[in-house]
Amino acid sequence: MRIAFIGLGNMGSGMAANQAKAGRDIVAFDLSREALARAAEQGMTPAASASEAVKDANVVITMLPAGDHVRGVYAEAILPNAPKDALLIDCSTIDVDSARTVNRDAAMQGFRAADAPVSGGTAAASGGTLTFMVGCREQDFAEIEEALKPMAKAIIHAGDSGAGQAAKICNNMLLGISMIATSEAFALAEGLGLDAQKFFDIASKASGQNWSLTSYCPWPGPVPAAPSNRDYEGGFAAAMMLKDLKLAQEAADTSGAPTPLGGAAEALYAELVAQGHGHKDFSFILQMLRGQT
Ligand code: NAD
Repeated sequence: MRIAFIGLGNMGSGMAANQAKAGRDIVAFDLSREALARAAEQGMTPAASASEAVKDANVVITMLPAGDHVRGVYAEAILPNAPKDALLIDCSTIDVDSARTVNRDAAMQGFRAADAPVSGGTAAASGGTLTFMVGCREQDFAEIEEALKPMAKAIIHAGDSGAGQAAKICNNMLLGISMIATSEAFALAEGLGLDAQKFFDIASKASGQNWSLTSYCPWPGPVPAAPSNRDYEGGFAAAMMLKDLKLAQEAADTSGAPTPLGGAAEALYAELVAQGHGHKDFSFILQMLRGQT
């Protein structure tokens, strides 16, 4: 299988490396020379442009920052240059409308295309344990699954074009809200003189239990692997969470879905980022709520 891999950043570099380790022939492209040099060291063939990378590809995978980048690379490089029987898979997190537009334009030119955003972060990207949420035609899913396998722990067909991005932003809106709710509970416990570890021990076995509490606890101590124990460095940046919450609110506006807590979560993360903490893990919101930022 010959894969053109475009976008070798924090996520894409590890993902492409896992494809190469699985014995696939990878032609890689990124605007960054350092990223291309790293790809060459890992056994991939660096290309001079995205157009060159896709020329003889069976599969084209993109892992780019946002919708503008994906629309640009599809229009200028992929659709005019990839073979018509190539499978096009965009793994970036982008807005649902851009995903549907790109997939529709590809289909109109005879390509099979899918949106397949991921959950899991950089550790899962390097470890080959990402969860993929795929929006595509039912009949294309088996082939997409085969293409994504070396990078995945789970690959789930979410529905037609755009459904992968829809699942991703709904999940991340839920995550943002649950992290704020968990942080508010710790701040209130502190205000009431309740020991944080005692609150954790109780809430993690009571009806307040949730992933932000038990796997990613914003209060340092109860969950040793959580970024709160590393001064909130690494993990999932607050600026990335803000990007996803914005996408969720844009989608809520266009679809008419009521998301009052999603809107409040976006405003709180915007404040955290405006304070200059966009690079911190998103669980750092606890410290803003405690007035410690
Ligand atoms: P990143 O900024 O580290 O990487 C993006 C790469 O794309 C960069 O290397 C950049 O040079 C390259 N690029 C930009 N425009 C390009 C173009 N026109 N042609 C070729 N290369 C181009 O970002 P990332 O952290 O790897 O995230 C990528 C996507 O994955 C984003 O949509 C993000 O929301 C999503 N995501 C990230 C995480 C995470 O934890 N970092 C988790 C899940 C999903």
